[in-house]
Amino acid sequence: MKISADAYPTTVEVPSTLSAVNELQNQHTMIISGGTILQINWEAGVEKPKHLISTDKLQELKGISAVYLEGQLNLKIGAGMTIAECLNSPIVRKNASILAEACEKIAAPAVRNRGTIGGNICSKIGDTIPALLVLDAQLSLYNGELEYMISLREWLTKPNPPSSELLTSVYIPIASTNLPNYSFFRKIGRRESFTAAIISIAGYIVFQENHIQAARLAIGGGAHLPCRLTSAENELEKAVEDIKWPLLYEVIQDDFSSYTDPFVTAEYRKKVAANLFIANIKEALNPK
Ligand SMILES: Cc1cc2nc3c(=O)[nH]c(=O)nc-3n(C[C@H](O)[C@H](O)[C@H](O)COP(=O)(O)OP(=O)(O)OC[C@H]3O[C@@H](n4cnc5c(N)ncnc54)[C@H](O)[C@@H]3O)c2cc1C
Repeated sequence: MKISADAYPTTVEVPSTLSAVNELQNQHTMIISGGTILQINWEAGVEKPKHLISTDKLQELKGISAVYLEGQLNLKIGAGMTIAECLNSPIVRKNASILAEACEKIAAPAVRNRGTIGGNICSKIGDTIPALLVLDAQLSLYNGELEYMISLREWLTKPNPPSSELLTSVYIPIASTNLPNYSFFRKIGRRESFTAAIISIAGYIVFQENHIQAARLAIGGGAHLPCRLTSAENELEKAVEDIKWPLLYEVIQDDFSSYTDPFVTAEYRKKVAANLFIANIKEALNPK
């Protein structure tokens, strides 16, 4: 199926199989899902590609289900599911509640109804990414020949993932621990909603009696490349009474690169992040 208009030099191909995607792809094509980020880029003056390949009809990118992957139960979310579908999915809310929280904080309903989780991840700046990082998400990508798996964490470190690779699904291990655990997602913007984040943070902490057995902390939002804060995680994985809070405050700030823009300095973002992580970790340790 091809939609084109003489007055508008961009064509949109809408394939219904992965092999058809492969046949259509060349160095001049670009994948489009909801188009909500691409639209912003084009309005900002970024040149439109001549050929777009829409993911709209690809059934491989649809659906949310629980599946076994190498013996581990996982939540499988098709990359073409909208942010609203993820937010409203009972299975997501039950097994990956912080992903639902992140989705709830993205834009307004009209954008959430159009934008997809795949587009959010592939933008590399989406607010779902910190939540997915602490959930230890894996990605399934189609490279034109086959689908392969890669951890989200590793994929983010690749400088320029080939634009020809299609994200098909996101896999989130369904936690099987009986130990008490606590997770959080927080987004700080310049206004309450509808704005790009100054920072978005996520955390997942597992306790064993008075000991933090596992900690995963991640940051993203704004133009940050999302990442895990591994030094801060190491500082946390110990008996609670041994945690050195002033040191943790410094380690969190050293653990990620930030930037200054006309509104907010890098130092301010780092301080906000450290305060926010520490407040949420302390709340986990001393629930009201
Ligand atoms: C008013 C407004 C407010 C917004 N607020 C937020 C916000 O608060 N937080 C936030 O995170 N985002 C926000 N966004 C950005 C955007 O809406 C979301 O990130 C959305 O999830 C992007 O998904 P999409 O399907 O529209 O991506 P698209 O625009 O279709 O694509 C984005 C990028 O991903 C690539 N891509 C898309 N799908 C795939 C795939 N399956 N495989 C490989 N590459 C792919 C595209 O080539 C493109 O480079 C906002 C946008 C608008 C317009």
